[in-house]
Amino acid sequence: MHLNSIAFAAGIAILAAPVPAATPEVSGKARAIHERVLTFDTHLDTPANFSRPGWDFAEGHSLSRDFGQVDLPRMKAGGLDGGFFAIYTPQGPRTPEATAAARDAALIRAVEIREMAARLSDKVELAFTADDAVRIAAKGKVVVYQSIENSYPLSADLGLMTTFHELGVRMMSPVHFLNNDFGDSSTDPKGPEWNGLSPLGRRFVAEANRLGIILDASHASDAVLDQMLALSTTPVILSHSGCKAVYDHPRNVDDARLIALAAKGGVIQMNAYAGYVAKLPENPERDAALKALYAKMGNRHDMTPDRVAELVRERDAILARYPGSKPDFDAFMKHMLHALKLVGVDHVGIGLDWDGGGGVEGLEDVVDIPRISAALLVAGYTEADLQKIWSGNVLRVLRAVEAAKAK
Ligand SMILES: [Zn+2]
Repeated sequence: MHLNSIAFAAGIAILAAPVPAATPEVSGKARAIHERVLTFDTHLDTPANFSRPGWDFAEGHSLSRDFGQVDLPRMKAGGLDGGFFAIYTPQGPRTPEATAAARDAALIRAVEIREMAARLSDKVELAFTADDAVRIAAKGKVVVYQSIENSYPLSADLGLMTTFHELGVRMMSPVHFLNNDFGDSSTDPKGPEWNGLSPLGRRFVAEANRLGIILDASHASDAVLDQMLALSTTPVILSHSGCKAVYDHPRNVDDARLIALAAKGGVIQMNAYAGYVAKLPENPERDAALKALYAKMGNRHDMTPDRVAELVRERDAILARYPGSKPDFDAFMKHMLHALKLVGVDHVGIGLDWDGGGGVEGLEDVVDIPRISAALLVAGYTEADLQKIWSGNVLRVLRAVEAAKAK
């Protein structure tokens, strides 16, 4: 897939139609089970919103009104107890100046997460260990783990892994849409540059093992995943990925690799990013209009409330002119049920890519997630299975990483 179409696919999802989803069929029993289970999403891009002028994580937002998918009121409404809040950096030029700017932006994002947690300390708490999860959730607070998506900010100085670990980061992925100094991306239009991990990428794996950081292979090429599985002394995670057997896309992972991931104790966390869930219907005119709009969105810290209102009006006009369609909830569940059948309940979890382009028809924001629990119960999975899927598996991986560090 060409880079432009990838960035653009993200645009489509963020700019999802403001049409309310069909009322989800979640029984009282399913809802009660969903509420009892500890629920984590392993890929929340929500921290990108923390610097938006006038935007407050403690207030309710909406996809149709201001593009947001996760905030405290909607986490409560959807029964999401926490997850990994990402420090995401888009891949930029691999020059010393750009790398230093990326490092500064990532450090600022980490500070913004800490500031949010400090400001909302009665509702939110930073988590650093697997044991923190239950302790914090028992207080009725949202559990905030931190992750790094794209290690580009670390490329000039691997010592920054220690800095970010001290700040609380417990999961890191080496690459994003494009190849970088750590290794190959699954979606770089130029194809592989390193045939997997670079020498720096191999040191990154060893350093993550030494520090106690979960290695995340989402966005990485198949060869990077293979090499991470071979080199890492701890289980590897795919924090937001799908199944290639369901939809053949470079961002999805084939069955043989999922089996290899599971054999090493790892987990695939199912993604809801529309462009990777199923093939989108083609509509070049709408695509061009949305792409132009998406380009205007730029940095989210430039998105003042007035600017957001302007962009929302523009989006709604485009979508009214070109009514489009997105994959539906069942298309998402196909990935999930395939993975469960293939590798079992100990190796599947959830990472829906909220605020990073995630969302399909009927799974539009965090409020809709009880539908996943309901669908799993209908498919015959038990409450104990749901506990593993929603948080038990990723916490098991975090425990394994902590144990390896202690050795
Ligand atoms: Zn991503």
